[in-house]
Amino acid sequence: MVATRARAIFLRVAKLCGAFALSRRLTRKSVRVLCYHGAWISDVPFRGDAMFIRPETFAARMGQLRQLGYEPVSLGDAVEMMKGNKPVRGTPVVVTIDDGWYSTLTAMAPALQEHRIPATLYCHSEPVVTGNVLPNVLASYLHQLSGYPKLAPPIEAAMKTACDTASPMEARLSAAKVVAEALGYDIESIIKSRNFAYMTPDELKDLFDRGIVDVQLHTHTHSLHDLSPNAVTGELDRNADALVEILGVPRQHFVHFCFPSGRSSRSAVEALLQHGIESATTVADGLAMPETHRLLIPRIIDGDNLHALDFEAEMSGFKMLLRKVLGMKSEAQKYLPDLGDVPQPGTPPGRLTTTELAPSLAR
Ligand SMILES: [Zn+2]
Repeated sequence: MVATRARAIFLRVAKLCGAFALSRRLTRKSVRVLCYHGAWISDVPFRGDAMFIRPETFAARMGQLRQLGYEPVSLGDAVEMMKGNKPVRGTPVVVTIDDGWYSTLTAMAPALQEHRIPATLYCHSEPVVTGNVLPNVLASYLHQLSGYPKLAPPIEAAMKTACDTASPMEARLSAAKVVAEALGYDIESIIKSRNFAYMTPDELKDLFDRGIVDVQLHTHTHSLHDLSPNAVTGELDRNADALVEILGVPRQHFVHFCFPSGRSSRSAVEALLQHGIESATTVADGLAMPETHRLLIPRIIDGDNLHALDFEAEMSGFKMLLRKVLGMKSEAQKYLPDLGDVPQPGTPPGRLTTTELAPSLAR
């Protein structure tokens, strides 16, 4: 509590002293990529986090972007700016939304429409195709919200089954219901709220056809398994096949990727390169700088865990610069692979550096 207040005072002073404005000037050629997931639409009280933002927080953020002077652009345009093929105008920001939650349609799309903000939805296609709720997310959120630190052994065993992706889906769903009921939740109303469900294929197509989101790749099963080239190929194929079928667009449409759970490796990046993927995002925090590799693009993970002032500090680049000066790295940054001489996507042989490819960003 004291630390939170001290941080808020520090940020307020930094902002008043012009550190946010200066950081923004210093990073004006960098792209800000925001990352969201779903919104919390259940009746179960929850203050929101980076996974399930409250709809009012999301709407406030979308309203803030232009107020703060950022220029919302599509992911495709941002990638062209990063390549140096398009001039960087304003301070570009890209909105990305992971997974395909039903609440993206009902609680996030209206704010995107109202503020005319283009967004990219990285779709994890299996739950869209099967219509299943996500038993692991349902069980673990209800446990967290129940306030029970320790579960009785039989409920703990049910929790394990609900979260075990190797178990049959029927068994996982039954186990999630056991957990929910043991914790005193009305499982029927939670399932009915669709808080833990994805969009149906028709709902996803509707969102896409109305131009509210572009849809791109996030694997079929939300995993790259052992991160081997074969695993990457298998997941890209299943994901793209499902999305081609649902959206009725050609396979070539899918050129942007988001690493599920942020897990990446050099061999996975090389496999994406082989498949003609033009950009890939992670959950490592930061701005996409001119020298950033376009197959490991960092994002600003936004949610109710970020106070409005923290959000401003992240967006301005102040927090990223401060972390650099202090030599601080988040857990996600520590696990980013070293890409060494892996070329940027679309690099002709012999032209390896970002500064050569993106002179407008290097200036
Ligand atoms: Zn995801």
